[in-house]
Amino acid sequence: MQRKRRFEGVVMITQERCKGCTVCVEFCPVHALSMSDAFNQKGYHFPELKDPEKCSGCDLCGMYCPDFAIYAFKREMKEAS
Ligand code: SF4
Ligand code: SF4
Repeated sequence: MQRKRRFEGVVMITQERCKGCTVCVEFCPVHALSMSDAFNQKGYHFPELKDPEKCSGCDLCGMYCPDFAIYAFKREMKEAS
């Protein structure tokens, strides 16, 4: 029997705080993040969640970000009706 996922990861990104160091992208254990092609007002690329299904909400990205520009949490998934 296949187990259903009960939690999903939610990632919050404050684009204007980001300095484009890519640490969050490199340390994500499931490669759910990538750097956007867009620039913030400081002229840096910022991360985006390219693969939401992979994200567990572990918040490693948030722990490693030196600029408090990203954090994540787990959210219980709603049952499909
Ligand atoms: S919360 Fe964890 S799995 Fe999700 S993007 Fe951040 S490091 Fe990757
Ligand atoms: S670790 Fe922080 S500052 Fe570096 S790219 Fe990610 S969000 Fe931006």
